[in-house]
Amino acid sequence: MKTMDAKLAFAMPGTMMDVDLTIGMIFEHILRNNAEREVVSRNDDGSIFRYTYGDFGKRVAQLAHALVELGVKPGDRVASFAWNNHRHLELYYAVPMIGAVLHTTNIRLFPEQVAWVFEHAGDTLAFVDTSVAPAVAKAMATRPDFSIPFVTMGARSTELPDAYDYETLLAGKPTTFDWPQIDERSAAILCYTSATTGDPKGVAFTHRSTVLHAFAAGTVDALGIGQADTVMPVVPMFHVNAWGTPYLAPMIGAKLVMPGPKLDPASIIELVDAERVTMSLGVPTVWLAVRDELEKRDGYLPSLKNLVIGGSACPPSLFDDLKRRGIQTIHAWGMTEMSPIGTTSRLTSSLSDATPDEQRRKLLTQGRFTALVAWKLLDEAGNEVPHDGKTPGDLWVRGAAVTASYYRVGSDLPCFADGYFHTGDVCTVDEFGYMQIVDRSKDLVKSGGEWISSVDLENMLMGHPAIREAAVIGLPHEKWVERPVAVIALRDGQAVEESAVQAWLAERIAKWMVPDRVIFVEAIPRTGVGKFLKRDLRKQYESLLLPATTP
Ligand code: ADP
Repeated sequence: MKTMDAKLAFAMPGTMMDVDLTIGMIFEHILRNNAEREVVSRNDDGSIFRYTYGDFGKRVAQLAHALVELGVKPGDRVASFAWNNHRHLELYYAVPMIGAVLHTTNIRLFPEQVAWVFEHAGDTLAFVDTSVAPAVAKAMATRPDFSIPFVTMGARSTELPDAYDYETLLAGKPTTFDWPQIDERSAAILCYTSATTGDPKGVAFTHRSTVLHAFAAGTVDALGIGQADTVMPVVPMFHVNAWGTPYLAPMIGAKLVMPGPKLDPASIIELVDAERVTMSLGVPTVWLAVRDELEKRDGYLPSLKNLVIGGSACPPSLFDDLKRRGIQTIHAWGMTEMSPIGTTSRLTSSLSDATPDEQRRKLLTQGRFTALVAWKLLDEAGNEVPHDGKTPGDLWVRGAAVTASYYRVGSDLPCFADGYFHTGDVCTVDEFGYMQIVDRSKDLVKSGGEWISSVDLENMLMGHPAIREAAVIGLPHEKWVERPVAVIALRDGQAVEESAVQAWLAERIAKWMVPDRVIFVEAIPRTGVGKFLKRDLRKQYESLLLPATTP
């Protein structure tokens, strides 16, 4: 099928209603059909808040009145800086449903970046969990010439003394709202993703893409959430809409459990058990810690049937250990640019007679594409490679929930071409459609689900007076899946200690971004065109950060 040609259209009368796919549509469905189901949310102090979707709907209306009173207009950007909790969920609905755009800010960015994204997004107001207000105060201190009004959620914050209080704003407001009609192609949510270099890039999900994503992610072979499920997204709501669950789970009528700021393994285990969570979602790092804690106690989580693991590759040992405890892992792959879910690993008919070993191998791939994602796998010359499960290619994607550009950057970038988006993942796809990531062409390290730009670190290192050249690679790590390691060559006659290089970096970047090791070499191996041969470096130091295996 050609993708970029003019559309064939003919007007035949008597077809379907022209109904916009909007978040308001999902909201109305929730209230009319699932009003009795519960939302459970952990407060900052560890206590539990619970209400029904019916009561949630009333507060969403109250919040909409408060937003209008504060002067928020259609098209305005409103920031959230918050954990997974019920107030954040209310923002997910009220902000887009009055026609504004919710900018879900990553609370793990370092202060300069937080201020930068607030300013770049043009946020007119920001909602901040009190527990993370100090981070916002620090961010604002980096830009004394820039200010926006804040609303704090939780107890009053001494860090943001002029902020409005969320509960005071809602108190006494009407519990219904005359929602405006919204064009389905209007922006609903704005989420910044780390780029290989330079500033983060904004991806704006529309109402239409959000609804379509919910339907595609909701199919049985994708997330497969049912009304009887209790779903706990541990993946943050500032990380691509918690993979769509704040819309999908209420739409289906599943109970939603929000873990708030307590993401330590003991708190997660306690909440899963207490609320009988049947499905949870998150990056491997979280579940590695939960696995360790369960093993320590020889504990089980009898309610938990399915665990969606994505954001980084699921370690096979984690898959096996969870399986032994009765938990099935659904491996998922996606990107912010894709809303995010692209693939999920479930067994298909082709595997019904396969050996358990073969089934396990397939379940450990990134899985099969959802129906919303068109894809192609290309070699360097731009030709499609065979789908034989062996030949790697660059993965390009296209679809109604794939971004066409970056906010205020545009689409004039090499990653947008011929109507497709270049993922930067190098993959194989087998004859049954199982996709497996074998390499990454984008120069990034993903540690505990968060990106670190290799290029930014290299540029910084090469600004050190003793360093001639630096290559930063991601190496396998037991806890964080991947950690950065710097390979450096010193200038002639210079000497510097590993710890001194790390300390020098720690003064300039967030501590969690500082490479775990600094390796000194004479010269960094290069390709014919002078690029660092990172693939070789990764191979050479593959087990550097892993515990030594006893023979
Ligand atoms: P998210 O972390 O929510 O998936 P990002 O946009 O931050 O979204 O990161 C997307 C990238 O993360 C992918 O292009 C890929 O490189 C990596 N990634 C995501 N899921 C997986 C996975 N299951 N296995 C390996 N890499 C993954």
